[in-house]
Amino acid sequence: MYFLGIDLGGTTIKGGIVDKTGNILTQGQVPTRAEAGAEAVLAQIENLTKELKARVGISDGQLRGAGIGIPGSVDVEKGLVRLAPNLHWRNFPLRGKLEKLLGIPVVLDNDAHVAALGEMWQGAGRDYQDILMITIGTGIGSAVILNGQVHRGIFGYGAEMGHVKVEPHGPLCECGGRGCLETLASATAIVRQARQELERGRPSLLRGKETLEARDVLVAAGQGDELAREVLNRAAGYLGIALANAVLLIGPTVVILGGGVAQAGEVILGPLKERFEEALGPWQIKPLPLLLAQLGNKAGFVGAAYLALSFLRGEGK
Ligand code: BGC
Ligand code: ZN
Repeated sequence: MYFLGIDLGGTTIKGGIVDKTGNILTQGQVPTRAEAGAEAVLAQIENLTKELKARVGISDGQLRGAGIGIPGSVDVEKGLVRLAPNLHWRNFPLRGKLEKLLGIPVVLDNDAHVAALGEMWQGAGRDYQDILMITIGTGIGSAVILNGQVHRGIFGYGAEMGHVKVEPHGPLCECGGRGCLETLASATAIVRQARQELERGRPSLLRGKETLEARDVLVAAGQGDELAREVLNRAAGYLGIALANAVLLIGPTVVILGGGVAQAGEVILGPLKERFEEALGPWQIKPLPLLLAQLGNKAGFVGAAYLALSFLRGEGK
């Protein structure tokens, strides 16, 4: 009995076939063609699925279901993507369309929710029931798991930390709001801010790069580049404060940091932890573990496969 997990990101679609004990049989990824529209992205998911199945020789009957993590808010019951800011999708009936294409039951959820489920199942969250997870990538995602269940709240999305306002007159967000955390601390924001600093004519190792990615800024910071360090410190500051605020509200027993930016290590985690500790101050009654996601960029598709598994078992996480 196998499950397909797909992590549909703003930049990359990752997928894998996973068995019911969490073993990954195969995995793959393709760059998201978000600009080509929703139907093109559906075709990409279909092709990736075919390729993965063919690679391990899995027949139609053996693949029981698929879980998909979406970079936006999802109506899990209706199988609808309500608002995915970085894909520019609104009210898109993804589940029905994918079930037709793939011929198996499909369950949708938010990408950070599935990453958190993946970490709870197989990673850093294994020993915890009350988890706050934040994923720092193209956008900023978050999940609150309470008593082992994803908290969904009144609007169905539970927590959307990427859109918590941290600067009243800050940059315009893809969601239409201003000063959202995501506009100041995501991979996209890091690149934008590095570009702005470069335009001011400051010296930097990043100067002259044709295409600038967040990874370049993280690497340059690791090499001691002042401009890169400044940009990351600023982003880390916002993240640290937003996380401390979330901890003050929710009281999780662990905080897990995921997404490509968090994987870069101390250049971002160092200042983030500093700001976090400082903001919590005396309210951190005992040490609260701040852990890196253990499954790295596999958390999303592993968690999506787990979502499919638990829904088909009737557990509905
Ligand atoms: C979306 C979230 C998503 C995050 C990461 C944000 O812009 O609002 O729902 O989890 O990006 O993809
Ligand atoms: Zn926003």
